[in-house]
Amino acid sequence: MSTPKHDEPESQHEDNYWRTKYTTLFDRHDKSINELEEKQALLCKVIVKLSITASGFDPHIDNHMLALRDSLRDGVNDKKLQAELNNLTNTLARISDTEDRPQPIDCALVFDFLERLYVNSPQTLNLADLRSQLQNNTFYNGKAFLNALFEAMGPFQLPVQNAESGTREAQEAYEDYIECEVIAAQLLRLMENIEIPELFSEQALELKQKLNTSKPTPLLENLLDDVIALILNIKQHLEQEQQEIDRFLAQLTDRLIDLGSTLTGARSAVLEASLNREKHDQSISDQMKQLQLHSSQATKLEPLKAIINVKLTEITQEIAQQNQNESLQRQQWQQQLDVMNTKLQSMETESAELKSKLQMAESLAMRDTLTGLPNRLAYQEQLTREFSRMQRNGSPLSLVVIDIDFFKSINDNFGHKSGDRTLAIIAKQLSQHCRKYDFPARIGGEEFVILLPNTNKNQAFKIADQLRIVIERTKFNAGGTAIPITISCGIAEFTAEDDADSVFERADQALYQAKQQGRNRCCLG
Ligand code: GH3
Ligand code: MG
Ligand code: MG
Repeated sequence: MSTPKHDEPESQHEDNYWRTKYTTLFDRHDKSINELEEKQALLCKVIVKLSITASGFDPHIDNHMLALRDSLRDGVNDKKLQAELNNLTNTLARISDTEDRPQPIDCALVFDFLERLYVNSPQTLNLADLRSQLQNNTFYNGKAFLNALFEAMGPFQLPVQNAESGTREAQEAYEDYIECEVIAAQLLRLMENIEIPELFSEQALELKQKLNTSKPTPLLENLLDDVIALILNIKQHLEQEQQEIDRFLAQLTDRLIDLGSTLTGARSAVLEASLNREKHDQSISDQMKQLQLHSSQATKLEPLKAIINVKLTEITQEIAQQNQNESLQRQQWQQQLDVMNTKLQSMETESAELKSKLQMAESLAMRDTLTGLPNRLAYQEQLTREFSRMQRNGSPLSLVVIDIDFFKSINDNFGHKSGDRTLAIIAKQLSQHCRKYDFPARIGGEEFVILLPNTNKNQAFKIADQLRIVIERTKFNAGGTAIPITISCGIAEFTAEDDADSVFERADQALYQAKQQGRNRCCLG
């Protein structure tokens, strides 16, 4: 303590002394908190970048890296982070040591990056040491190297703040992360909006599952390629189907032309046959006239008899010949008729098959394969019909938009298959419990709509609320556990000024309100 000035009383001097001491201590405390926060932000950045760099070495490590990044995203909890690091270390220790050495170029990048971060810190020396060990081929595989790298980073001073409030680089790392989430969500939306033929449904489901779980950028790039490849395959498949139908129609046209010419042939054969018969009839009647003439001019019986005999023989031969010709002709016609019949029958079968194929394709294109409900396309067509009916009759028309509450957590906790089963059960309940002339459809992932003809918005609200209660009371079983599931609904009534988008917008806005107000409820738009 300094000596009091001679004109200052003892107690005042004491006060000043303590005040200065407190101020200094507070300053020092503030400074160390700032330093701590900077270090924490730096650490967050290191973990995020490191985990991105390390992804792809091994699926077990990838899972831990994801968990590490997720733990940062939710606001870091030191115990949780420490636990994740321990898990990672244990996994690294467990993984067998049989794989190849890490690629030198990857490691060089990691070192460059880390050395820029850790200027003049204890880690700098460790990193330099590690780099020279790597150059001397000390590591027999990638995991051993990663293990040593984590050790070289030393015991971390664990961050206690959310990375979002850290430095600009940490912020950027988070923005990258969020951007990946947005891209994945958009790809999912895209896939939900295209009609996927049965042939590709498994591949599409697998991709959707990956998009729901894999967010790091390099994986996302692969997934983007996969989605593009899938869409191109679907396009090619549809084009092939179209070509097949075109080919069939061309064949059908050829067959019809063929059949037409057979019929023309048959008609000319009939014409020829009737000409032949006329010719024969003429010849027989000529012979008869001659016979009459001979009889009337005859004066003696014997020559007359001889003439009659000759003429009768000629006429009999003529008739026999004609009969033979006609029977031959009949056989030919029968054969032609048989050929035509066979052709007609096969054409009938083929066109019936084509018709049922077309009907099947049409109904597949209008139905959602998972739930069997009409899909978005069918909803849009029905909407056009109902909307013009509403304009003609002036009868009210309402729309309910339905979204399952916290559906993602069902997938996350019980798996995608349970999620799919839940969607099918909800679809069944909706279609069983709405009225006969209502039109329920699945328009996207876990979103449904119901078109309610002759129904104003208050009536629609009551119906939607009854459906909400039905779903709330339905028993959903996932992995042997009964799980409660609820839905939220937004309702809007069409007005003459509306179009499909504007009324949907209002119902969707009302749905948003229902979610905001706590879910498991209906709101009017
Ligand atoms: P909210 O109450 O706010 O609606 O929460 P939510 O979890 O339902 O909403 P969110 O939009 O975050 O999640 C919807 C999830 O639906 C995401 C996706 O995994 C899942 N999903 C979409 N389509 C399908 C599908 O066909 N099958 C399965 N199992 N899940 C799907
Ligand atoms: Mg949704
Ligand atoms: Mg939802």
